[in-house]
Amino acid sequence: MTFCGATTGIEPPLALLAELTHRCPLRCAYCSNPLALDPASRELDTAVWRRVLDEAADLGIIQVHFSGGEPTARKDLEALVAHATGAGLYANLITSAVLLDRARLERLRDAGLQHVQIGFQDTVPAKAEIISGFPGGQPKKLEVARAVTDAGMALTVNAIVQRHNIDRVDDFIDMALELKAGRIEIANVQYYGWALKNRAALMPTHEQLIRMDERVRARLPELTGRLVVDYVVPDYYAKRPKACMGGWGRKFLNVTPSGSVLPCHAAETIPGMTFDRVTERPLADIWANSAAFQRYRGTDWMPQPCRSCDQREIDWGGCRCQALALTGSADNTDPVCELSEHHGLLAGITATDGGTAEVPLTYRSFSL
Ligand code: SF4
Ligand code: SF4
Repeated sequence: MTFCGATTGIEPPLALLAELTHRCPLRCAYCSNPLALDPASRELDTAVWRRVLDEAADLGIIQVHFSGGEPTARKDLEALVAHATGAGLYANLITSAVLLDRARLERLRDAGLQHVQIGFQDTVPAKAEIISGFPGGQPKKLEVARAVTDAGMALTVNAIVQRHNIDRVDDFIDMALELKAGRIEIANVQYYGWALKNRAALMPTHEQLIRMDERVRARLPELTGRLVVDYVVPDYYAKRPKACMGGWGRKFLNVTPSGSVLPCHAAETIPGMTFDRVTERPLADIWANSAAFQRYRGTDWMPQPCRSCDQREIDWGGCRCQALALTGSADNTDPVCELSEHHGLLAGITATDGGTAEVPLTYRSFSL
């Protein structure tokens, strides 16, 4: 099926997040993947993923982000990258890097991979091991990061920030420069999935955030033209929400390892919703017509105060999954918004969970 925006009035998405697998050797305390993971036996096979990539290109999608779990756990990754780029898609790999080596990176590059994003849990190896629950990860990540740029691909350092490493933001930036990354994403932990279980162990204090903000701003002038810095204030200390996913069903779609098509990574947490599968319905039809994508698309679903707010087509009422997690209903205005009747909840959560103390982490387990 070829997507026709002229007949549906809906613009095609920009990017597809292809979650190839939930398998992952790491056990990050902040992992935002669902609590119930797809086992390997339910993963889409190579032929179905190839069809999905073709359908994505037909739909007008420009970029595919191969993600997981750990996407390099899939032996067919090279074949999928080659298929994606053959279909005209820009291919990005989002990886922990611990299963990669120089030879495989070069095969991926030869298959057409253009960009690699590596997640770093810390700049101090022992601290990174505590957060990731994985021994020996940091030297491997550094080695692979160097191999990415040596192989001629673009590198993004994804610095995942929480209370135990937030005061090392300068070290993260220095590490990205040393690795010749083109971009650093300073990503404050979002409290979905497993991360929600560890919120009281990970959430920083407001003072820590202010310090980080000052450090990032102080570094920006010297980084111009050398390193792109993506950084936003985390939701729980913000006054207005972000346009989550650029608005529900507006810019992105996710395909899970077992083939469900989601408007956002955490959408399966919303009770009562059903998601169409790529094995049962064409991607273009799901994007344009499925009940899940229609549910919070646009502004018709909005309650007050969003419905009459002049920001409603800028932030699209914020994040549905966050509204659910914090207020009990995905239909509510994101409580990050200070105009929300639930905004006071945020102050309560940051008062109880924000801190600097060592609180025991709860780890997930999932074998390859
Ligand atoms: S956050 Fe950590 S555990 Fe979760 S998928 Fe990514 S690397 Fe694996
Ligand atoms: S009321 Fe709704 S649309 Fe207005 S700023 Fe808040 S979340 Fe955004």
